[in-house]
Amino acid sequence: MTRKNALPEKTCPVCGRPFTWRRKWKRCWHEVRYCSERCRRQRRRSETKTIDEKQKRRLNEAGLVSQ
Ligand SMILES: [Zn+2]
Repeated sequence: MTRKNALPEKTCPVCGRPFTWRRKWKRCWHEVRYCSERCRRQRRRSETKTIDEKQKRRLNEAGLVSQ
């Protein structure tokens, strides 16, 4: 058995999982690096330092909420 429509695959550098070509990437497959919008954002998050402060603030807020 051979697959006629074997789709190209890439590996997401964020979650490390392979993902296959999707129709929405038809025109930009060569630019696609992440399996999902979520992973793309995670990648950006780890690159910026300002997020660290945002996360701290969020933790503080969580502490206030639990009182
Ligand atoms: Zn991913």
